Amino acid sequence: MIDHPQAAKIFNEDVERVNWHDKSLWVVRQKRDKVASEVKGWETLRSLASGIKAHTLSNLDEYLIQFENQAIKNGAKVHWAENAEEHNKIVFEILNEHNAKNVVKSKSMLTEECGLNHYLEKKGIDIVDTDLGERIVQLAKEPPSHIVMPAIHKKREEIDELFHQHLNTELSGGDEVYLTREARKHLRQKFLDADGAITGVNFAVAETGTIVVCTNEGNADMGVHSTKLHIASMGIEKIIPKQEHLGIFLRLLARSATGQPITAYTSHYRSPKPGNEFHIIIVDNGRSNHLGRPDFRSSLHCIRCGACMNTCPVYRRSGGHSYNATIPGPIGSILSPGFDLNKYSSLPFASSLCGSCSDVCPVKIDIHDQLYKWRQVIIENLHKDKLKRFAMSTVGFIFSHPLVFRLSGKLVNLSLRILPQNIINGVVKEWTRGRKLPQMPQYTFTEWYNKNRK
Ligand code: SF4
Repeated sequence: MIDHPQAAKIFNEDVERVNWHDKSLWVVRQKRDKVASEVKGWETLRSLASGIKAHTLSNLDEYLIQFENQAIKNGAKVHWAENAEEHNKIVFEILNEHNAKNVVKSKSMLTEECGLNHYLEKKGIDIVDTDLGERIVQLAKEPPSHIVMPAIHKKREEIDELFHQHLNTELSGGDEVYLTREARKHLRQKFLDADGAITGVNFAVAETGTIVVCTNEGNADMGVHSTKLHIASMGIEKIIPKQEHLGIFLRLLARSATGQPITAYTSHYRSPKPGNEFHIIIVDNGRSNHLGRPDFRSSLHCIRCGACMNTCPVYRRSGGHSYNATIPGPIGSILSPGFDLNKYSSLPFASSLCGSCSDVCPVKIDIHDQLYKWRQVIIENLHKDKLKRFAMSTVGFIFSHPLVFRLSGKLVNLSLRILPQNIINGVVKEWTRGRKLPQMPQYTFTEWYNKNRK
């Protein structure tokens, strides 16, 4: 079972890192606010995107088949994978058929979810993540801690050390220009040696059978154009019905993710070049089950911009690894329990329920409502603590009976004023561990209100 508070505690031991992580993500959130405010009709775009996603998910069977038919007409080979194992097996079989031993991969959270790297490495394939942040965490043997900025938790000095160890670079004291140049040199050789390229998919257009991949480094294009084999992995929820819908999502995605008006590279892949092969693997891996949960299905609208992470006070100060899930942060906390309720039961509680995630989400997912709903499911199904249940039903009774509520308030107020401090601290020790109890006022709010209202 994942214990988010415990993992967050470890991240919080490095106060300097926490503060800087918090600030860096807040800067991205501010950039997002600025560019979003410059787009006339931003809210209309969000509503449109949300409506298109809801419509697509309600007709997913038709759009997926339409996409498959179009993609086949374009010359792509389409595969279906029910789960992660099937996906990995298909990728390996394709690579094996082409005797491809060196593979370059651009960012794909789906392949992370499927554990593809580990699977292929065990089969003797050299798989290299080519997004710079992804390559950094791959060298560090860590998972990404953010879906857009995978190495945001790493300090420059740590990257310096990592490159020194793995790429034989000089120690530069964290000189980012030097490190980026060395990374480029290293990755360039990997592209030249590659005999297969794997990409993720940001959007798959049913009408045209095209897949669209957005990167800032051009690494997806470098991989696809330097090899004869392109494998694209996509979740079933990546479908959008028409080409004309793409502009809506592209305008929202880059602005929400990094505060850019557009990603540096927005690549449309439709047909393989003569002599090349283009494979598309459409993966379910639990998404259909999620689609069948009315309270939670809209979490499949997600376009993986990461804005909910950048704004979340809990994510910013606990780090992506504390979620121990492929997708961290608020969206991960509503997706992961759908995969394994028991394992991820602490995640919906990793939120202040402030609602900031829902406010920034470009596809208007009601994230904080879903966090709250998952809590109810978890309490109902997993928390069998009788004492806690008794306490909660007692509180529920008090809150729903005004007279009892008022009398209890008076009693608590009086007790806190007259009881010795050590007794009070003993009763509320969890609360007072990190903060002082406030001074009790002379009156309850109701008393004050009744006295002062005009
Ligand atoms: S839930 Fe919304 S804000 Fe969060 S990553 Fe997905 S699209 Fe972006």
